[in-house]
Amino acid sequence: MDNSISSCFENLVLKLSSIYDKREATNISRIIFEDIFSISNPNSIHNVFNLTDQKLLEKTTNELLQYKPWQYVVGKADFYGFKFSVDNNVLIPRPETEELVDLIIKKHKGEAPSILDIGTGSGCIAICLQYYLKNAIVTGVDICSNALNVARENAKKHSVSTRFKLFDILDTESTKKMPIYDIIVSNPPYIKNDERQLLAKHVLEHEPQLALFVSDNDPLQFYKSIVEFATKHLNHNNGCLYLETSALYGLEVLKLIKDKGFHNCALHKDLYGNNRIVLGSINKY
Ligand code: GLN
Repeated sequence: MDNSISSCFENLVLKLSSIYDKREATNISRIIFEDIFSISNPNSIHNVFNLTDQKLLEKTTNELLQYKPWQYVVGKADFYGFKFSVDNNVLIPRPETEELVDLIIKKHKGEAPSILDIGTGSGCIAICLQYYLKNAIVTGVDICSNALNVARENAKKHSVSTRFKLFDILDTESTKKMPIYDIIVSNPPYIKNDERQLLAKHVLEHEPQLALFVSDNDPLQFYKSIVEFATKHLNHNNGCLYLETSALYGLEVLKLIKDKGFHNCALHKDLYGNNRIVLGSINKY
């Protein structure tokens, strides 16, 4: 068998084409060769892999064929122009969330707000906000300490001062101890268990369940708690709430914040045309 790097690459594309379409299989194979083997032009290399690299390629191929997302395989994901470290304790940052980050940065440019990101995961939202709103004081909270370790690593990597702390938004006692913020943002879990079969295998079998699923009988559980929390912990002089949601719940979440007396409420669609971002502000003066 031809063991040249170029045919190993072709072989990987072929294998991945059994679970991804050809273009995606090629893209993923390129990322693997670039990130794991530092080879950016595998098609033109006729040298052979050494034994260690052959074994590594075999292991990597097997992981990918088990639907492990390539971001977990290489340990990083692209988000808003940054590389974020990711592992299976955190959700892989999504392009829809980039739009949420972009919206907040544009609306609050030049300000120095205190910001709370609830369910921060990899820290992608908190860190991008901190990077572009230089004078902001950003805190990211999560219920999962392993996720917080990933977020801290990302903050260090991008040289930002964002603080991360363990916190459960459903624990009413600890919510009472939190201060007042100018901005609260969250992309909480909202997928019902009975929607599992609709998810792609690489999401369902590899991404953290804690970050994705809610109980079937109360899919808006996190939104309700966050909105309730926001009414008490947002600055009443124009404090802003930003929530990522899904096409399924956009209107309901919008109603939730309207019913709680938020002003300037709006629902934005994402790049795919689905309802995605709900926002509003509190003004009691
Ligand atoms: N805030 C993170 C993100 O947007 C994690 C969200 C989550 O785990 N539900 O990717």
